[in-house]
Amino acid sequence: MSTRPANLPDKIQHFIDGKFVDSIDGDTFDVIEPVSNEVYITSASAKIEDVNLAVAAAKRAFEEGPWSRMLPRERSRILHKIADIVESRDEQLAEIESWDSGLPITQALGQARRSAENFRFFADLIVAQHDNAFKVPGRQMNYVNRKPIGVAGLITPWNVPFMQESWKLAPAMATGNSVVLKPASYTPLSAALWPDIFREAGVPDGVFNLILGSGGVAGDALVKHPDVPLISFTGDSSTGAMLSTNAAPLLKSLSLELGGKSPAIVFADADLEAALDATVFGVFSLNGERCTAGSRVLVQRDIYDDFVERFAERARNIVVGLPTDPTSEVSALVHPNHTEKVLSYIEIGKGEGRLLAGGGRAEGLPGGNFISPTVFADVKSDARIFQEEIFGPVVAITPFDTDEEALKLANDTRYGLAAYVWTSNLKRAHNFAHGIESGMVWLNSNNVRDLRTPFGGVKASGLGREGGYRSIDFYTIQQSVQISLEVSHSPRFGVSGK
Ligand code: NAP
Repeated sequence: MSTRPANLPDKIQHFIDGKFVDSIDGDTFDVIEPVSNEVYITSASAKIEDVNLAVAAAKRAFEEGPWSRMLPRERSRILHKIADIVESRDEQLAEIESWDSGLPITQALGQARRSAENFRFFADLIVAQHDNAFKVPGRQMNYVNRKPIGVAGLITPWNVPFMQESWKLAPAMATGNSVVLKPASYTPLSAALWPDIFREAGVPDGVFNLILGSGGVAGDALVKHPDVPLISFTGDSSTGAMLSTNAAPLLKSLSLELGGKSPAIVFADADLEAALDATVFGVFSLNGERCTAGSRVLVQRDIYDDFVERFAERARNIVVGLPTDPTSEVSALVHPNHTEKVLSYIEIGKGEGRLLAGGGRAEGLPGGNFISPTVFADVKSDARIFQEEIFGPVVAITPFDTDEEALKLANDTRYGLAAYVWTSNLKRAHNFAHGIESGMVWLNSNNVRDLRTPFGGVKASGLGREGGYRSIDFYTIQQSVQISLEVSHSPRFGVSGK
């Protein structure tokens, strides 16, 4: 059994206008922890009325409070304090996150540090922020007046929840907006840590509001609220599509970071040891519950048999263990429903590919959410396990002969989030990268991302870009202001008539 972290609250509450509160109707939902699948806490469950209160508080803070008017340097200081607090509590945060989500503790720790870095990065960026000014000599000056938008609705998924939340909270707040966060209901625990962190850092009441509850009720109310002009959503592609339909009548700004089925392409001329390390890590880290997982590995035929055998051997040797165990490499999936979904794909895979590792639940572990890292080889491109996002520790491996064939296979899904290319041929690497339909490509690298670079997908993987200045653009209005430097000469309407 995992040990329950010390000092867990008795229940999880909404945080509205600087106060922890229950739902108006007192409704709650049960939260389970993924090792025993037993209920360990209850969370407040928001209805439309609770969401309305949170939005009203955020709107009031935006319109009347100091946050949206502060100098960037003043906000930056508070954001750096947030980063300091998160950093100083990284082990406690990781413990809580790992308990709630089933992430291996060492990987949860890395995500806690990344969360601090998100705040530090945007704290620096808003101080360095500059905007365009244009001159028409002797006639006109034009400049961009950048403004926060208002109440940002942030809706996040259950994989790496705290980090996903920080990824949206940091730029939304840095730019002066107020926020209402609706985290995933499988994993509300770490979200409930933000209020104290923000309070301690000096964020004014009402700037950050947290509502907990079902996506279909609380999330939906946020998306349809007329006083929430922008929504940043990360989650499943089908939810994203539904959400854009719901937001359309109000013409909201939307950023949609959605699912993936990303290819990792290994050419025969690659550094095969490095490619092996990265492709194994790429699909099995974070329990395979990773939007950018390289879940389709395409391998050139000359090296196929050897590479596949070595890949499978690595997978068989992966340490599956308790989330609290620092030696665990893969741990418990987030929830029994999700585990059932992943297991059903494994059963489908048995009819679609050659099973070389895993194939079901991991043995000798409590509860039912531990799945053995599973490898299917010789998977055809029309297979469901090649086409559909499984979001667990399952990989489909497919051979190819030529660059053209590899590119066709790489692009042959509805998704287009990430891609990984392994080759020692520089021209091939770049040409191949340019041909791939994906928002991000890593060449001879696993998924290491500079926070300045744009993040997002194409096709069913998303809409819009966040990351670096793209996040600043998403969370602000760029108003252009024109000033005449000469006597204004306008066509004189209404002068010659009667
Ligand atoms: P999900 O089911 O789409 O849920 C995401 C969030 O949306 C949750 O907070 C959910 O609430 C809420 N929600 C559900 N229905 C809603 C509705 N009608 N209106 C408003 N909000 C609604 O996704 P998930 O299963 O949590 O996360 C896994 C998915 O996220 C995978 O597809 C993965 O690839 C994707 N993901 C993408 C990225 C990226 O950056 N591209 C990163 C991480 C994950 P409940 O929890 O209460 O249902």
